[in-house]
Amino acid sequence: MMNVTKTFLPPMEEYQKILSHAWDKHWITNRGDLVLRLEKEIASYLKTAPIIAMTNGTLPIQIAIKALELKGEIITTPFSYVATTSSIVWEGCKPIFVDIHPEYLTIDETKIEQAITPYTSAILATHVYGNPCNVEAIEKIAKTHGLKVIYDAAHCFGVTYKGRSVFNYGDVSTCSFHATKVFHTGEGGALFSNDPEIINALFYHHNFGHKGHESFYGIGVNAKMSELQAALGLAILPYFEKIKSNRLSSIAFYKEHLDDIASIQFPKTREHVSENGAYFPIVFDTETRLLNIVKALNDNSIVPRRYFYPSLNKLPYVAYQEMPISESISKRIVCLPLYYGMDQDDLRHICKIIKDSV
Ligand SMILES: *Cc1c(COP(=O)(O)O)cnc(C)c1O
Repeated sequence: MMNVTKTFLPPMEEYQKILSHAWDKHWITNRGDLVLRLEKEIASYLKTAPIIAMTNGTLPIQIAIKALELKGEIITTPFSYVATTSSIVWEGCKPIFVDIHPEYLTIDETKIEQAITPYTSAILATHVYGNPCNVEAIEKIAKTHGLKVIYDAAHCFGVTYKGRSVFNYGDVSTCSFHATKVFHTGEGGALFSNDPEIINALFYHHNFGHKGHESFYGIGVNAKMSELQAALGLAILPYFEKIKSNRLSSIAFYKEHLDDIASIQFPKTREHVSENGAYFPIVFDTETRLLNIVKALNDNSIVPRRYFYPSLNKLPYVAYQEMPISESISKRIVCLPLYYGMDQDDLRHICKIIKDSV
């Protein structure tokens, strides 16, 4: 069986060697040496804004909403993973959806302003499959209307825009280090912000609100990354360039072999972006065709993933707002298998099944 992804695992000895530090110190959580080292190495390797490592990629979104004291309405994208919307609702705010660009698949910045009301406090948008939003236009809108900007950059480890890590944009960016992501710590994630005051607020919110041992800044939660997670990240980080280039070459193979199929389109990458090969999504002309191809692949024990599906404006706990583009794309898009070390024969086999069934 071939799944949509296969988690990269470093050589066990290398993980153990890093882990042995935690054993020697008898210290496995509460921001030990390995978490601090991982934060430092990521920030210097990617040249990012200051980073706080977390236990997953969802709590950072919730903590960002809490720490920025967002209230009322948050403008967001319907085309993302459920965690983007659920975090807004979980924090007691109302998601106001703005439809997506039909080719970039990120929030359509030209439709944001008409969604702003006196209750709007922020824009929470996703850099879809690592393809950044129009960050300049969004920053301008946010400035004009006094809104905060949070980017769900869960897919963006290693992505740069105009030569800078995309984590440097917005008031806060969040990332996921889940095992299915391009860089991972098993479960894990991070927050990034260039504003020292915001970083301070994010920090105490992720650590119970503690101000030292005996007093508190305010309410907090526990989102700390453990040493076990950090050790895995430290063992994987040296492989990241290799992982990225290997995935990008699989994508190039797919594109070359699927390019001439009229019923398939590839989402468009924004200009000045250096990609990380996080996903390989393809868009069919109809949902029926997508379902046929998914079935043909499944019959060959190949499991692509309908991602993102459904469009988040259709979640049972949000007030439905029609989003024609996102609804249409989410019915017609599928991510094909993509992981480090994928066999060329497997890639060829997948392309052939798709070609034979369109
Ligand atoms: C994976 C993902 C998340 C959630 O991250 P976890 O680490 O699984 O909690 C949030 N948003 C997007 C867009 C994602 O793909």
